Amino acid sequence: MAAWEENVRKVVPYTPGEQPNRSDIIKLNTNENPYPPAPGVAEILREMDVQGLRKYPDPTADDLVSALAEYHGLQKEQVFVGVGSDDVLAMSFLTFFNSQKPVLFPDITYSFYDVWAELFRIPYQCQPLDEKFQIRTEDYLKDCGGIVIANPNAPTGTWKELAELEQIIAGNPEVIVIIDEAYIDFGGKSAFSLLPKYDNLLVVQTFSKSRSLAGMRIGYALGNQKLIKYLNDAKYSFNSYTMDTVTIAMGVEAVKDKVYFRQTLQKVINTREWTQKQLKKLGFVFQDSQSNFIFASHPNIAARDLFEALKAEGIYVRYFAKPRIDNYLRISIGTDQEMKALISFLEQYLGENL
Ligand code: PMP
Repeated sequence: MAAWEENVRKVVPYTPGEQPNRSDIIKLNTNENPYPPAPGVAEILREMDVQGLRKYPDPTADDLVSALAEYHGLQKEQVFVGVGSDDVLAMSFLTFFNSQKPVLFPDITYSFYDVWAELFRIPYQCQPLDEKFQIRTEDYLKDCGGIVIANPNAPTGTWKELAELEQIIAGNPEVIVIIDEAYIDFGGKSAFSLLPKYDNLLVVQTFSKSRSLAGMRIGYALGNQKLIKYLNDAKYSFNSYTMDTVTIAMGVEAVKDKVYFRQTLQKVINTREWTQKQLKKLGFVFQDSQSNFIFASHPNIAARDLFEALKAEGIYVRYFAKPRIDNYLRISIGTDQEMKALISFLEQYLGENL
């Protein structure tokens, strides 16, 4: 090892799902939305003033912040935007988790949490989910440096009732509780309604799933003005221009089109319900999903074998070779046609291999 390497900040990075550069596959591995973004988003690209790009973007991303504030019925000062919710969450870890006490999150959850904690040298302690992959409220009612909970959880797809989440938020007035709601639009109840009651609550959402804009990278946090001010202070100490001009304009269009948003959500939900029925018929076991993916296991076939067989067929799902979840597949909801192809293949494969 070279002498200088001793002083390098070494990290084990998060591994994102595969993004193969092929159009001939059925891609159900990264919880993307199978439908295009709202029509107004394409309009922005068509009419884009390329000349305008010589200027820096608005560092406050005011148009987008205003659109989101209006959508949620909040003040602009209660909204923070970033480059996907990954950016917003990372900035929140940096800003709010500065205690010597450990930050708490589940042992099976979004696998970026421990990566950020390691990167920023934040002490943390994973709380084991129970055998049904549920969070135990009592595990989060103890002295700690902060809490982050994905609701619905990923990759397990389980979710927690708002009343139970409220117990955790109310029971931890001395630290910030982050509720990561990447999948909330597909069925769960947002903790957003608790914002007026709790000044230690930060709700994080994304445009990547329900608004079909994973490729543009937009995420945001909602919280009281003080929290958002602290987040902005950290952001302006790091990179003033996180959101580019085009992304800001596209994000506004996505938020404005409520009708398209609701229609697209409903299509994904309908397909999810159909897929759940079919998977059940095939003997798969899973918790009822309120998100745009199903986390399923089959009692008689190893998930890794299924994962490989699906991949060979050009159907990509996500497999995690990790303790407790290495016999599960996380299957994103695609179009009806894509899910029919998935089910037909599974029928055939199980017929031949059981
Ligand atoms: N939180 C959870 C629970 C997720 O599954 C994801 C998607 N990988 C994210 C946050 C980040 O999403 P994005 O950065 O695309 O907003």
